[in-house]
Amino acid sequence: MKRQLFIGPIIQTNDDGKLLINKNAGILVENGKIIKIYNDPNPSHISAEIVTHLKEGQFFIPGFIDCHIHAVQLPNLGIGYDRGLLDWLETYTFPLEKKYKDKKFSEKVFDAVVKRTLAVGTTTACYFASLYGESSMILAQKAAHYHQRAFIGKVNMDCARSDNYFETTKTSLENTKNFIQEILNIGSPLIKPIITPRFALSCSMELMKELGKIAQEFDIPIQTHISENSLEIKTVKAVYPNCATYSDVYNEAGLLTNKTLLAHGVHLEDSELEILKFHRSSVVHCPSSNTCLKSGLCDIQRLKSHGITVGLGTDVSGGQSICILDAMRAALEVSAHLEMIKSNSYKSIDYIHAFYLATLGGAKCLSIDDQVGSLTIGKQFDALVIDLCSHNGPLDNLTDHTLEEKLQRLIYSGDDRNIVQVYVSGHRVK
Ligand SMILES: [Zn+2]
Repeated sequence: MKRQLFIGPIIQTNDDGKLLINKNAGILVENGKIIKIYNDPNPSHISAEIVTHLKEGQFFIPGFIDCHIHAVQLPNLGIGYDRGLLDWLETYTFPLEKKYKDKKFSEKVFDAVVKRTLAVGTTTACYFASLYGESSMILAQKAAHYHQRAFIGKVNMDCARSDNYFETTKTSLENTKNFIQEILNIGSPLIKPIITPRFALSCSMELMKELGKIAQEFDIPIQTHISENSLEIKTVKAVYPNCATYSDVYNEAGLLTNKTLLAHGVHLEDSELEILKFHRSSVVHCPSSNTCLKSGLCDIQRLKSHGITVGLGTDVSGGQSICILDAMRAALEVSAHLEMIKSNSYKSIDYIHAFYLATLGGAKCLSIDDQVGSLTIGKQFDALVIDLCSHNGPLDNLTDHTLEEKLQRLIYSGDDRNIVQVYVSGHRVK
C-alpha cells in the first residue's frame, strides 16, 4: 500500500458552498484516497513513503471539474464568434468534427486536449467526444494514459444531413452499445462512459428514447444541450409541436434523470425548472460560450433558487478558453452584468460561489461528490497546488495576503502558471 503525506493549507468549500480553510493540514493519502487529515503542520509520528511539504505561500485546493467540453472542437478554439449557435455549428463545427474519421488526426488532437486540460487543473473532464466510436475510444485511451478522470461520450446524431455527418438510428444505437462495452473493457476506475445525444435538433425521438433506456440499463449518466439560444428553442418547439417546452422533449424521451447534465439552460422557463428539479437533473453553466456566441446571460441565482444543481463548463470551442479559471471569471462577470441590469435586490454570485461551481458543484452534477470535489476523508486526492508567486506567473508578490485573499486573486487574476502541481487520485500529473 502506498502512503503519501501532503502538508500545507487547504482552501475548499463545503456542501453548502461555504468557504473552509485549514491553515495547517496534514493529508494522509493511501492508494490515492484520503484516509486522515491532521490539523498539524508537523505530524512527525506518521509514516508515509512520500512526504510533500508545500513551500511558504502555497496551498491546496480541490481539482477542477469541467462538466462540459467538446474534445473534438479544440482546433477551432477562438474561431467563429461572429456567428450565432446554429450558424456557427454549420459553418465551423460540423466540418471540423467530420475529420475525426481520421485516426491520426484524432490522436493528435486528443493528446493535446488531455495534456492541456490537466495542465490547467482539470482533474475531471466530462467530454463530448466524436460521432465516431473509434475516435471516441482514442480520447478515452488518452485520458487513461495521462491519468485524467473523465466521462467520455460518443456523440449521437441521427437526423439526416446533406454532408452525411450523422448515423442511422440503428447504427447509432449499435455503436453506442459497443462503445460502452469498450470503455468498460479499459478497466480504469477513472474512465466512465456517458450517454451523449447531441441535442434535440440532431436526434430523433426514437433514438433519444432508446438512449434513455441504455442509460438506465447500464446506470450511466446522460449529457446533452438545452435552451441555449432563442432560434434553437423556437426550432425545437416547431419540430416537436406536442411538447410545451424544450425540457418536455427530453422528458418525453426519458432522458431526464438524476444523472443528467444539461449544458447551458440559458432561457429555461419556470415550468421547465420544475421538471428538472423533479428529476434532479442538473444544469451546466457555460458562461464563456454563452457570451461568445451571444446566446444570453444565464441567471444561475435563479436556477439555484429553484433547487437546481449547477456545475461549470468551458464548452470548448463555443467557449474561448480551455481553462476552468476563465470559466469562473466568466461566470462572475455574467452574474455581475445581471446585477447591473436587474432590480436593486438582485445579488450576483461571489468568488466563493464560482469556486464551488468549479469543484464540489461539478462533482454533484456528475454524482461523484462522494469521491471528489473536496479534500475530505474518504475521497480521492484530486488536488491542485497553487502558488501565486510562481516563476513567470501573472501576479506580483508585493504585500501580504490572507488565504481568502489569495484564493480571490487566483480566481480573478491568476492563470495556469499559478497551478504548480496537479494530482489525480494521488498520482502527480503536473
Ligand atoms: Zn456544448
